[in-house]
Amino acid sequence: MCAGCTKELTPEETYACSECVDEWLIYRDPNGDISDGNIPEQ
Ligand SMILES: [Zn+2]
Repeated sequence: MCAGCTKELTPEETYACSECVDEWLIYRDPNGDISDGNIPEQ
């Protein structure tokens, strides 16, 4: 299972689901600060 929640992992996910990884990247990457206004839109 995911280390950040209880989701099942896909073969591409090693220890955490993509959602948790994305959240962690935001916390770990200063350039990902949403207060900067650079929010990538899909
Ligand atoms: Zn997760």
